[in-house]
Order: sequence, then structure tokens, then C-alpha cells
Amino acid sequence: MLKKHQKKTGTSSYSSFFNCIEKNFDKATKFISIEKGLLEQIKACNAVYRVHFPIKLGKEIKVIESYRVQHSHHKLPCKGGIRYSTKVNQDEIMTLAALMTYKCAIVDVPFGGAKGGIKIDPQTISIEEIEKITRRYTSELIKKNFIGPGIDVPAPDYGTGEREMSWILDTFLSIKPEDVDALACVTGKPISQGGVRGRKEATGLGVFYGIRELCKMKKDMSSIGLNVGLVGKKIIIQGLGNVGYYAASFFYQAGAIIVALAEREGAIYNEKGLDVSEVILHLKNTGSILNFPKAKNIENTEKALELECDILIPAALENVINKNNADKIKAKIIGEAANGPITPEADEILEKKGVIIIPDIYLNAGGVTVSYFEWLKNLSHVRHGRMEKRFNENMNSELLQVMETTCKKKISPDDKKIILRGPREIDLVRSGLEDTMISGFHTIRDLKISLKIQNMRTAAFVLAINKIVDSYEKLGIFP
Ligand code: NAD
Repeated sequence: MLKKHQKKTGTSSYSSFFNCIEKNFDKATKFISIEKGLLEQIKACNAVYRVHFPIKLGKEIKVIESYRVQHSHHKLPCKGGIRYSTKVNQDEIMTLAALMTYKCAIVDVPFGGAKGGIKIDPQTISIEEIEKITRRYTSELIKKNFIGPGIDVPAPDYGTGEREMSWILDTFLSIKPEDVDALACVTGKPISQGGVRGRKEATGLGVFYGIRELCKMKKDMSSIGLNVGLVGKKIIIQGLGNVGYYAASFFYQAGAIIVALAEREGAIYNEKGLDVSEVILHLKNTGSILNFPKAKNIENTEKALELECDILIPAALENVINKNNADKIKAKIIGEAANGPITPEADEILEKKGVIIIPDIYLNAGGVTVSYFEWLKNLSHVRHGRMEKRFNENMNSELLQVMETTCKKKISPDDKKIILRGPREIDLVRSGLEDTMISGFHTIRDLKISLKIQNMRTAAFVLAINKIVDSYEKLGIFP
């Protein structure tokens, strides 16, 4: 944990990012009566591994700084993404690991929280060099027993994706070929390497399900002067990476109006709406979202957050909504797709303005939920749905025949097709994700109402802490 006297940042008066999360945790403990020592244990990071290693980049030897933090061992394995960014530091990785613990508890994924990070800019080094660094980092984790199907299972995060997860798996397999469960040492892999269908879009889709659920609540919507439903709602999304891109696509398909998209180099705006796939095509062709023919450029990308809209979705980095801009935010709903995008001071300002914030520890849990499905698939060594698909189709077919004979009526071939179809892996993954996000939303909302908690973030923390406490109490504390 960083010391209280450490330098404060320009955007927050808290001493560190970890300190911000502690503040949110402490707010929640007012609604829980549990022994102080146990709460301190839940808050603390159990294990922090920082490793520097040399890599030859071109003709030079560079020292690479990297981390893996296991925040909680109340359930094993630990689980959490790995990010590649020049901003990676111990405080950031500790905080993100802590968020993972609470996130897993909220969505009933039986893992402790973890996070990893390598301090590099993947955009300025070659793919071969990223591969070298990824493989070396993995072998450092193996040396210290910080990775393994039952120990700690990484996944993608900011700056990483399927490609890096494949390299991690391959490195693990080459060192531990005898481990029959090795595929489960990392999630977010390509399908051909043991990945699960639906993982790539899972976080963005989870964000969509969570916000859609709020927008169905008549009482909540009328409290902020909005109609129920997503159709016609004006949305701004910051970050068009894995999470932001998929979230934007699902909202667009559901009839919402994407009025602005913000990236590193600037933002684009069109009051009438942006076609997400056209913007992506433009990005692929030109290397930037700027100068999209059907939109206006906004050079200062941060200003996009302050534009008129109903829903704002930060899906890039932490602390982007802070005491400097919170007052200027016009959105009525903020969906935290990124981890920690709102500082505690901004949280208070927005709460006074009546903005509904759907917190990261619930809203972006879709990724870890589907990672859990991938881990289960790898441990069971069989694709989800493989055993039951044909059986279900045969059963449905017999049922249809009985119905047709009994009712003396033929069912149309189109209807038959829908009824007969047995579940594919993608169907099972998506329905598991949808159910998780819907029930997570209502559990938090019901708790918020029953305990008269001011906001969803505190209610989500109360829910998470109660579940972790329950786990500790049932396990007992090892002497
Ligand atoms: P990503 O690397 O795929 O995408 C991030 C995007 O943000 C990139 O397109 C980048 O150019 C853009 N960006 C960077 N700085 C920006 C700025 N100042 N303004 C606007 N855009 C900027 O990362 P991701 O996996 O989509 O992760 C985004 C956030 O979501 C992170 O906070 C991450 O921790 C969180 N998250 C990701 C997952 C997951 O499954 N990938 C799961 C849970 C939470």
C-alpha cells in the first residue's frame, strides 16, 4: 500500500489509486457489522511480485519493469488481466487486482482477484519484441509459482489480447508439458488454442447488458428525466479498443445513437449518430478516427466527455473523470466500462448532480465471467454444448412430432428451425453472461433500496464484502 504522504496527482487529492478504492471500501463498511481485523485483511493485497528482467531490443539491452499482484486468496485460483502500458506501476496493478476480487465476488465467479502489468508501450515496439517480453515475463511468473490453472490465471486487459494469451500458454506448455490442465493457465485465448466462443466481446456485451437493465427500470429512468429503453438514447464512448468497440457495436445495433467516439488522438462527433462499423473501417484505412467524413473532429479528446448525451461510457483508462471535469459532465448515466475511470471527488460531485453511475466492479465483470466459462471448458476438456447439442435437437424433434400429431397442424419450416436447434457454445456462453449481468444488477439494486444506500457503487461494495466475509468465515482463519 502506498504511504499517505506520497505526492498527490493533479486530478485527485487522494494519495494513490489504491487509496481511492480504500475510500470506496470504507464507505461500504458503514453498512456492514464485521470485525475490523477481517475487513483490514480483505482490503490488503496478499502478494505483490515485482520483477525486472533484461531484454535485447535491437542492439540495446533494456530493463523491463513488470508486476503480478494477487490481491486475495480467499478463493483460488486468482484471476485478472495483464496490461501493457507505459503508465503501469505498483499502485495501479494493486488497485486493479483489488477491483478484481470485488468483481468476482459480485458475479459469483469463484476466484480471488489478481492483476499483472508490464511497463511498455506496445505501439512503439515490434511484434517480435512484444513476444519476447511476454514469454520472458511468463517464465518469470512460472519460476515464482505466480501462474497456473489452480494458482493464478491471467487474461487480456489494456494493451493485450488473444495473441499475447497464446504466447503465455505456449511458454507455460513448454515448461510444464506434463500438466494435463495447462490450457486453463490463461484465458482470453483464440478458439484454436482452447479459447471459448464469446470471450472477445464479453466485457463490451456485459457493459451493454448492465446499462440496458438500468434503462428498463421505470422509476430510475424517471428520476433522471429519461424514458425507458435504449432506442434513441444518446451515447458517448471513450476508447475504441476491445471493450469500447464491442460496447459501441451492441448499443448501435440496439437502436441507441452513438453521438461521439473518443480515442487518444482526438474525438469525433455527430449529433445524428455515428455508424460504428463505418468508423472502424475508416480507422483501419487511415489509422485514426479523426477526419471521418460524416463527423466533426474534436481535437482535445477529453472535451468529448463533456458533450451533451444521455449515457457516457468511459472505456479506456482510470481517473479520466475527476475534480477538474466532473462538474462539466452532462450525461445522466455513466457506465464504467474501464476500471476506475471516476475519482472519489468526481463521484461526489456527480452524485450531487443526480447522475446514476453503474460501477466498474459490476459493469465490466462480463470479461471475467466468460473467462470463468473458458477456464471450466479447459478443465473439463470438452467444448460447451458438445455433449448435449444433438441430444436436445433429437428430443425437440420428437416433441414437435407429438405436437403436430396431437394438434393435427403442421409447424412451418422456419419455426421448426428455431425450435429444433440445440445450444451451441456461443448460445450457452451468451445466455450465461446475460443471466449473470441481469441478476448482478438486480442484487445490487435491491440491496441499495433495502439498506437505503445512496449509490450503486457503495451497494456493490457491500455485496462484494459480504460475500468475501462469508467465504472467510466458512473457511476459518488458518492459525
Ligand atoms: P484496449 O487496449 O483494447 O483499448 C483501449 C483503447 O483506449 C485503445 O483503443 C486506446 O487507443 C484508447 N485510449 C487510450 N488512451 C485514451 C485516451 N486518453 N482517450 C481516449 N481513448 C484512449 O483495452 P481494453 O481491453 O478495451 O480495456 C479498456 C478498459 O477496460 C481498461 O480500463 C481495462 O482495465 C478495462 N477492462 C477490460 C477488460 C477486457 O476484457 N479487456 C475487462 C474488464 C475491464
